[in-house]
Amino acid sequence: MSTRRSTVTCRVGSLALGSDHPIVVQSMTNTPTEDAVATAQQVAELARAGSELVRITVNTDAAARAVPEIRRRLNDMGVDVPLIGDFHYNGHRLLLDHPDCARTLDKYRINPGNVGTARTRDEHFERMIAVAVEHDKPVRIGVNWGSLDAALLTELMDANARRTHPQDAEAVYREALVQSALRSAEAAEELGLPHDHIVLSVKTSEVRTLVAVNEELASRCDHPLHLGLTEAGMGMKGTVASTAALAILLERGIGDTIRVSLTPSPGGDRSEEVRICQQVLQSLGLRSFTPQVTACPGCGRTTSTFFQELAARVDRHLRERMEDWRRRYPGVEELTVAVMGCVVNGPGESRHADIGISLPGTGEEPRAPVYADGKLIATLEGETLADEFIRLIEAYVEERWGKVS
Ligand code: SF4
Repeated sequence: MSTRRSTVTCRVGSLALGSDHPIVVQSMTNTPTEDAVATAQQVAELARAGSELVRITVNTDAAARAVPEIRRRLNDMGVDVPLIGDFHYNGHRLLLDHPDCARTLDKYRINPGNVGTARTRDEHFERMIAVAVEHDKPVRIGVNWGSLDAALLTELMDANARRTHPQDAEAVYREALVQSALRSAEAAEELGLPHDHIVLSVKTSEVRTLVAVNEELASRCDHPLHLGLTEAGMGMKGTVASTAALAILLERGIGDTIRVSLTPSPGGDRSEEVRICQQVLQSLGLRSFTPQVTACPGCGRTTSTFFQELAARVDRHLRERMEDWRRRYPGVEELTVAVMGCVVNGPGESRHADIGISLPGTGEEPRAPVYADGKLIATLEGETLADEFIRLIEAYVEERWGKVS
């Protein structure tokens, strides 16, 4: 595993991010923020799914007025997740006009491309940073290629055109993204924001560009970085593209918080983006959130769907039991279970898992060896096989993690 690139710890409410702290999962609501009841409810759902930071848009006076009410409602529900306010265009005014909102939020997200016009940009930026300094709040300077500072891009394009050997436009564009973040961070520090109160992000919706600009950014600063493929899209496309981008960067030690910006299907579950973040981190061996089931895809050696049904049942059982297990068995989220379809890879994969079962394939004797910590502990058969395997998993968890608590 590569070591982390950022060396600065930034505190957001009760949470520490950057440096050697665990990579933080964050998400964003899609309720109208002025609807404090619906927004608090969605923040709570995201937090309960595992989001450790939740961002809400603060786009109107009504939204800014709702922020303290959202916090009160969350506190009443026992949800202490830090809240980030997302500001565009009018953040300088909202933060000044609504000091309760400014005080309540744990972090502000400022997009340098949407702070104001060429004439008002510096003044608006100064006002927002002044509020952050006054309330001792960290700021994420979040550059997005859909709203890149046009004046900066023009400046760099003009400078590039004057060079003897101009770079291609794409390279200049990437440099503008990086410089937008770095120049804004320097300006914020000159205005009095402490170095460790700054998180940076540069987001694009194209995987290779996202990787390139974040590698460049990481090589030129020590601030914690927030990663995410912006406008990732829906379903499988959004999930795979986000995972591809995050995995490359995280494996190179880049990234301190992550978000998967998935477009939910109508009526879909917003918390899906949180679970994908967790799965990315767990698959890379960076954090553990929930027990993992290894199951083979099945092939012509399995004529029944029994092993698929057993894998699904085990997966469901683990998820249902986690709330109770987490309390009683600290560390149980590292449990690995294998459910395999035949003798080809079954015993090997089952020995690698903490506990695993190798079901009989076509033509094999109808018996299923079960391994725990690499050793054969039982051979199951008959109609009670699934119940018996679940019972063995329960016993394994109790034996291994019950003594810890
Ligand atoms: S373990 Fe057996 S059933 Fe599963 S995919 Fe491999 S060969 Fe097929």
